[in-house]
Amino acid sequence: MKKIALLGSTGSIGRSTLEVVRQNPEKLKIVSLTGGKNWQLLAEQAREFRPQFVASAFEEVGNDLRAALADTGIKVATGPEAVLEAVFMSGVNTTVAAIVGAAGLKPVMAAISRGHQVCLANKETLVVGGSLVMEAVARARVDLVPVDSEHSAIFQCLQGAAGTPPRKIIITASGGPFREWPAEKLAGVTLAQALKHPNWNMGGKITIDSATLMNKGLEVIEAHWLFGVSYEQIEVVVHPQSIIHSLIEFSDGSVLAQLGWPDMKLPIQYALSWPDRWQQPLPALDLVKVAQMTFMQPRLADFPCLQLAFSAGHAGGLMPCILNAANEIAVQAFMQQRISFIDIPRVIESTMNSMQNGSVTSIDQLIEVDYETRRRAEELLEARK
Ligand code: NAD
Ligand code: MG
Repeated sequence: MKKIALLGSTGSIGRSTLEVVRQNPEKLKIVSLTGGKNWQLLAEQAREFRPQFVASAFEEVGNDLRAALADTGIKVATGPEAVLEAVFMSGVNTTVAAIVGAAGLKPVMAAISRGHQVCLANKETLVVGGSLVMEAVARARVDLVPVDSEHSAIFQCLQGAAGTPPRKIIITASGGPFREWPAEKLAGVTLAQALKHPNWNMGGKITIDSATLMNKGLEVIEAHWLFGVSYEQIEVVVHPQSIIHSLIEFSDGSVLAQLGWPDMKLPIQYALSWPDRWQQPLPALDLVKVAQMTFMQPRLADFPCLQLAFSAGHAGGLMPCILNAANEIAVQAFMQQRISFIDIPRVIESTMNSMQNGSVTSIDQLIEVDYETRRRAEELLEARK
């Protein structure tokens, strides 16, 4: 039985994870839940799944959350330390990391140190701390199983590779809502337009990342760490239908792909059922209904975020952490309508140029660099006014 700490239960991945738990009550049990400011949904989830412990990362919702669960006997706590406490609950053997952003790094490291299987949706954790995370995974001999659909696809293909390393990894990208927009129209992209993804229904930050192609850039760095491949071995191909979730190529040129409807319940469930497969009540893939699959190159010049991520990956060291923090601030500024869509890569690039790269030494150092980068990006945003 998987006894789960679900971090970020109120988000898009969190809610889909609970749907998978609902469908598999004899195999999956929720021990702890953590969320953010939406204490109403967190309380509702706690009433349904009856965990031992519930935490919000934000102190300010503590009173409401406690009051809402007062009659349940469920322990409630708030703040970043409470999220770690959720991981440390006794009996937990699996952590589902569905927090958004660099805030997921410490909880994921905690889960690894406890020997949990980690089902990782929170790609920013690997972007920020890939080297330390993978070292910790090797040291603790835990399973880090991807939830991100592309990485789940590659992971599934690798199950059929019998240990043969791939020559190349091909990551597919939907191209986002502006795939076909002429470059000169991108300056006028509104928040509402950017929040409307053609194929996937996701949280706000990743939806904006998908529109800028930064999401694909973060996924390239995520793949580098998860699968131990160099950046030269990773190719990004735009595939607007999002049916092929990614592919691996072997030295003889043979290619394996994983296909499915775009629904995150599938990769979430696979991360929990692996190496087994369970029933999933989703409709089966119907190739005739799909009818057409098309492929094209990403428009690197018009969507510079993907190239920025490749550059940060190549530079290595602290640069991916800097890229990620600058992106979190730039996306937030766009969502607050302080900057335009095409300003997002500009803010990231100037922040990257104004920060010093160096080698990664510790999680505390990364948290410090993350903080410094956010401050620097905010300064640059202020200076633009
Ligand atoms: P979301 O915004 O819908 O949910 C984020 C969750 O994290 C919420 O529960 C929120 O309360 C919590 N949270 C936010 N800030 C926090 C903080 N500082 N500390 C602790 N918890 C905090 O996001 P999402 O779309 O579910 O994405 C979650 C992660 O999964 C992201 O890293 C994203 O890139 C990745 N991912 C998402 C999808 C998807 O389909 N949504 C697909 C692949 C990967
Ligand atoms: Mg993805």
